[in-house]
Amino acid sequence: MSCGISKAGFLEEEVPRLEDWLNKNQHGQMVYMENHFDKRLDPTLLVDDAKSVVSLLLNYYPSDTQISDSFKISKYAYGQDYHFVIKEKLKELLHSIQENIGAVSGRAFVDSAPVLDKAWAAKSGLGWIGKNSNLLTQKVGSFYFIAELILDLELDYDYAVTDHCGNCTACIDACPTEAIIEPYKVNGSKCISYYTIELKDNLPMEMKGSFDDWAFGCDICQDVCPWNRFSKPHKEPLFNPNPDLLSLTKKDWEEITEETFKVVFKNSPIKRTKFSGLKRNIDFLK
Ligand code: SF4
Ligand code: SF4
Repeated sequence: MSCGISKAGFLEEEVPRLEDWLNKNQHGQMVYMENHFDKRLDPTLLVDDAKSVVSLLLNYYPSDTQISDSFKISKYAYGQDYHFVIKEKLKELLHSIQENIGAVSGRAFVDSAPVLDKAWAAKSGLGWIGKNSNLLTQKVGSFYFIAELILDLELDYDYAVTDHCGNCTACIDACPTEAIIEPYKVNGSKCISYYTIELKDNLPMEMKGSFDDWAFGCDICQDVCPWNRFSKPHKEPLFNPNPDLLSLTKKDWEEITEETFKVVFKNSPIKRTKFSGLKRNIDFLK
């Protein structure tokens, strides 16, 4: 786990980016992105007397991946739902801070509340936001969950690091739906992750054939990123997949029943699409 700390306050530099993204409707059906605009930009509106944003990264890069003749699941969804796993860890961390320092108040966030987690992590020196819009680190790549503790405690603050994307365009070139419309700008509503997880309607026929066998999420722009050559397997047993997940063939996916789905994906973030959503995605890939 890596940790970086920023002074809590209004994230002024993110205003134009967020406004532009929302105005161009690049969030598609993710209407929750429109909510809490002010809170998204200012953690002091989320936590009384907030002084510091402690950003944390937790590796989810798996030691083994799915067999090649399979429909693909984003690596972050192999194991148990990270929201619950990380929330527990953050509660322990907050408890330990309170035991060691005294009366500190705070709240823990894991991709669940209106916090611009990548922006805070970058501000805290944990990495830079790459052309694929993921947080990238020189040492360990981008297969990391990002979480925050917002505390009413003054701390020493870290500094942002420089961008190391350089002339590379590997992610832009590899994206099968051209969702990275220009360096550092992803049109969320063209991304396979959006289609396979967020979109509630039928998948648009004009996209048929362009999902490159991804049935839940998409890792292409991370898999091709040279900085991910340095990824090392995580050590969190709860992120290990049900062994059946890695060996499912395309045929197995096509024939998967709701009973098998419930066993293989018990406590998995894949439950977000429900069985019907996953079936819809698989039928689209056939
Ligand atoms: S996750 Fe996949 S579809 Fe989305 S931007 Fe990256 S490569 Fe493109
Ligand atoms: S693939 Fe290249 S351009 Fe894209 S995020 Fe990685 S380093 Fe940056």
